[in-house]
Amino acid sequence: MHDAVKNILVTEEQIIERCKELGKQIKNDYELNNETPLLVGLLKGSVPFMAELMKHIDMDVCFEFMDVSSYEGTESIGDVKVNLDLRCSVKNVPVLLVEDIVDTGRTIKEVKRLLAHKGASSVKVVALLDKPDRRVVDIEAEYVGFEIPNEFVIGYGLDFNQKYRNLPYVGVLKEEYYM
Ligand code: 5GP
Ligand code: MG
Repeated sequence: MHDAVKNILVTEEQIIERCKELGKQIKNDYELNNETPLLVGLLKGSVPFMAELMKHIDMDVCFEFMDVSSYEGTESIGDVKVNLDLRCSVKNVPVLLVEDIVDTGRTIKEVKRLLAHKGASSVKVVALLDKPDRRVVDIEAEYVGFEIPNEFVIGYGLDFNQKYRNLPYVGVLKEEYYM
């Protein structure tokens, strides 16, 4: 275990197993409507989750990325800024947003609004992690990997000052690391 990690919350094996379940569920749900979702990942945190999840969606899915920022250090800031927009049109496209974690909910709420405004036929969310206790806006992801307690986590895409995204598990960051 990395020295910055207090304890591991979700192991790599658990993530892979959960991605298999989510992949099947996503395929079944979209197939019912004769649709294939466009996966839109939010950089950079969604990259490892996107890579694992898409292997288990047995459909001809395409994927794109967007970059929005909402976090500085460990504190949430109000507005969401679009740093890198989508390169393709999402008009009449069913979009499945892929996110590392839903915390206050502001990011996915704002990005959903944005994509709906661009004409997406639907915008659903799949998040690896969910911290329901932290929610300040009324929004839920349609698909969630794991609900976790209100602790600052790193790994599997999640960073602290851009580090630790490459850890193959999700763990709690030791307090002394952000003192
Ligand atoms: P929200 O807009 O839902 O408050 O924030 C979502 C974003 O905040 C996530 O995409 C992630 O970048 C960041 N975030 C929220 N909680 C955590 C956490 O526990 N650890 C890390 N590394 N980032 C977090
Ligand atoms: Mg993020």
